[in-house]
Amino acid sequence: MKTRALPVERWQRVVHFEEPESGLNALIAVHDTTLGPACGGCRIRPYATLEAALDDVTRLSRGMTYKNALGAIPFGGGKAVIIADPRTDKSEALLRAFGRAVDSLGGLYYTAEDSGVTEHDLAIVRKETKYAAGLAKAGHGGNPSPFTARGVFRGIEAAGRFKLGRDDLAGLRVAILGAGAVGMALAEMLHDAGARLVVADVNDAAVSEAVRRFGADVVAPADCIAADVDVFAPCALGGAINAETIGRLKAPIVAGAANNQLAAPEMDAALKARGVLYAPDYVINAAGVISVGLEILERWNAADLTARIDRIGATLTAIFERSARENLPTGEIADAMAMDIIAKAQKAA
Ligand code: NAD
Repeated sequence: MKTRALPVERWQRVVHFEEPESGLNALIAVHDTTLGPACGGCRIRPYATLEAALDDVTRLSRGMTYKNALGAIPFGGGKAVIIADPRTDKSEALLRAFGRAVDSLGGLYYTAEDSGVTEHDLAIVRKETKYAAGLAKAGHGGNPSPFTARGVFRGIEAAGRFKLGRDDLAGLRVAILGAGAVGMALAEMLHDAGARLVVADVNDAAVSEAVRRFGADVVAPADCIAADVDVFAPCALGGAINAETIGRLKAPIVAGAANNQLAAPEMDAALKARGVLYAPDYVINAAGVISVGLEILERWNAADLTARIDRIGATLTAIFERSARENLPTGEIADAMAMDIIAKAQKAA
C-alpha cells in the first residue's frame, strides 16, 4: 500500500492511502487528539477529485473534534473518506485494505459508520483492525438512529423552553424534512409527546407511513422550510439552510438531525439576525458518536448512554444562554465552547 502524509496546516495528521490491487484510494484526517484518540466515521463517495475528498475529510474531521468535545466523550476529531461509489465499488478487498490503513495509524484514529458505510461493512474492516467501532454486540450499541432521534428530541425540548417558554411539547408544531431512520424515530417521539407534525420526504412510502402512524400533514420537500410551524427539523441531507431558502423560513427554531445544515458558515449569523434560534447540528445530533465512544471505551450501557443523551438538552441550553448574553450566533458559541474544553485540557496536560 502506498502511504503519503499530506501536510495540512492545523491538522495533526492527514494521510493518503492508495492500493491499486484492492482499488483503495482513501484519506484519513486526524484533526486534534488533545482529548483522546481521534474518532469519527468513514464516508464512501465518488469524489470527483482528490482535492474535493481532502476538503470534505478535513472539514468533517474538525467538526468531529468539536462534536466529541461537547458530547463529553474522551476522543479527538478524525474522519476518513474512501473515494469510490458505494453502490458499485465496495468489495471485501477494498474494505479490508481500508482496515489495514486504519490499523497502520496504531490507534490514533478509530473509524465507524458514515454515509455509504454499513454495519456489515464495518464488520469486514474489523477483520483487519481493532480500531473500528459502531458494531452491535449483544445488548450493545449498533444502529445509532434511535439514539440520535432521542438527542434531537431533547434538543427540541430545550429550544422550545428557551425560545417559546414552553414546558412541554403538547401542540408544538414541527416540520420534519426527511422521515428516514432518524426523522421517523423523531416523529414517533414528538407524536407521543403531543406535537403536531408536518412531514416532507422524496420517498413517498416514508411520507405515507408518517401520515398513517402520526396523522402528519404533508408538504413537498422544497416547501418544508416555509411551513408555518414552531420548529423546522432538517433530517435529510446537509445544506437545508442556504442563501436561497433562508428567506422562506417561517419557524422561529431550527433543530434537526442532519449534518451540515448550514450551507455556508455565514448562515449562522443570518439565522440570528432573523431572530431564529438555531440548535447547532453537531451538538444536537451527537448521540450516535457518544454511543460509539462508549463502545470503544468498553463502557457501553443503556442507562449511561441515555443519561448522556439527555444532557444534550442542557448543553444546548447553555449555548442558547451564552449566545443571548454575548449577542453572538449559536454556532459560533458552540465552536468557542468546544475550543475552551480543548484549551483547558491542553493546559492541564
Ligand atoms: P436516512 O437516509 O435514513 O434518512 C434520510 C431521509 O431523507 C430519507 O427518508 C430520504 O428519502 C430523505 N431525503 C433525502 N433527500 C431528500 C430531499 N432532498 N428532500 C426530502 N427528503 C429527502 O438517514 P438518517 O440516518 O436518518 O440521517 C439523516 C440525517 O441525520 C443525515 O444528514 C445524517 O448525516 C444525520 N445524522 C444521522 C445520524 C444517525 O444516527 N443516523 C447521526 C448524526 C447525524
